[in-house]
Amino acid sequence: MPEVIVLGAGIVGVSIALHLRRRGHHVTLIDRKGPGEGTSFGNAGLIQREAVFPYPFPRALSDITRVARNRSIDAVYHPLALPGLASPLLRYWYHSEPERYAHAVAAHSALIATCLAEHMALAREAGAEHLLRPIGWMRMFPTQESLETALEQAAIAHRDHGVNYTTLDCRALADAEPALLVERAGAIHWTDPYSVSDPHALSVAYANLFTRLSGTIAIGDATTLKRHGAGWQVQTTDGPTDSATVIIALGAASTHVTKLLGYTPPLFGKRGYHMHYGMQGNAVLQRPIQDYDSGFMLIPMRRGVRLTTGAEFARPDAPPTPVQLERAEPVARALIPLAERVDDTPWMGVRPTMPDMLPIIGRAPGQPGLWYAFGHAHQGLTLGPTTGRLIAEMMDGETPFVDPTPYRPERF
Ligand SMILES: Cc1cc2nc3c(=O)[nH]c(=O)nc-3n(C[C@H](O)[C@H](O)[C@H](O)COP(=O)(O)OP(=O)(O)OC[C@H]3O[C@@H](n4cnc5c(N)ncnc54)[C@H](O)[C@@H]3O)c2cc1C
Repeated sequence: MPEVIVLGAGIVGVSIALHLRRRGHHVTLIDRKGPGEGTSFGNAGLIQREAVFPYPFPRALSDITRVARNRSIDAVYHPLALPGLASPLLRYWYHSEPERYAHAVAAHSALIATCLAEHMALAREAGAEHLLRPIGWMRMFPTQESLETALEQAAIAHRDHGVNYTTLDCRALADAEPALLVERAGAIHWTDPYSVSDPHALSVAYANLFTRLSGTIAIGDATTLKRHGAGWQVQTTDGPTDSATVIIALGAASTHVTKLLGYTPPLFGKRGYHMHYGMQGNAVLQRPIQDYDSGFMLIPMRRGVRLTTGAEFARPDAPPTPVQLERAEPVARALIPLAERVDDTPWMGVRPTMPDMLPIIGRAPGQPGLWYAFGHAHQGLTLGPTTGRLIAEMMDGETPFVDPTPYRPERF
């Protein structure tokens, strides 16, 4: 009998399963699909050492009005979804107030600080180092003023959180990215982050290491989780699987299961899309780029240049509506010489988001043998291995490498 079942084989669940297996636990990792086929499949692939400031809800009236018009590229919403989203979005706004936001920054940056080392440790063992490209990413600015404002924030990130960057003027930017079709005043190059050339391959590599270490992967439906004697039971295609301990790491679907156990934290989804493109002629994009206010990213990946969109707010069961991609594509084509689309249809994923901008990581209150690890929002790829280590250290009764209090489930 496995000692531990991990529900969800996204980057978070795979990393947890791997950390526990490396420590000698008998672990079964259960998903209804293969490892890394959920949101972890199609993200922008950044291990974001620079992301010490989580995304706040906009507080300036001009920003709120802009998003409310529902015509921007960076954020869109389905009007019909608003009644269901009103409560979590109001709480998101509440937690984005400067003093509360400072608390979120402190707790979020504590997790971010070790993300590169945590990934590299697993990637080395998994033989996947080559997927972690140490090239950082660049944000470009249209005017000197906008660049200087961003540099003030970058200086704080460096001073308070050890984030590294270089500044490029107009000419240095053109030299760094010869394929750029536009001129910009300059750019900030975040030099620490890894750019993953294939995020799905990274989850699969970690999952392969897990099975090489005699971990078990099974196909099953997490909503079948139920108490069984002193432990838990989940139905898989190989029959029922029992364990003493279960960890719910189902990303945006986590509350489908927690609500069956009476726990309904205000988890909500920020959907995002991607599409791959070829490049015209010999043009090459050197590293991931974002144009100041566009909200989308362009990332050179194995399959082509991946365009990933910002946030879409929709009902969980609403069919994909990739309007942001349609809006972003012509803007992207004006930035770099993109060729034809590579994919037949846009891919869609859902960022599992908590209103206080912090994931839920820890022991489930009032449920012996149950743990939670979800809600990593924009930085789930970044924080998968960090979360795996934190959960493993807590489960083994060790003093964790970071104070887990801010992420505790009972805050909701
Ligand atoms: C466009 C976009 C760009 C992004 N860019 C970045 C980035 O550059 N860097 C970064 O750090 N993060 C990024 N993110 C966020 C990141 O992708 C997510 O935070 C992360 O993938 C969440 O991982 P997870 O393991 O929690 O969830 P998932 O990867 O979604 O895994 C959850 C798993 O649960 C399974 N599951 C669900 N329901 C059931 C069920 N009933 N039974 C069994 N299994 C079930 C699913 O099949 C899935 O495999 C981006 C997200 C998007 C959408």
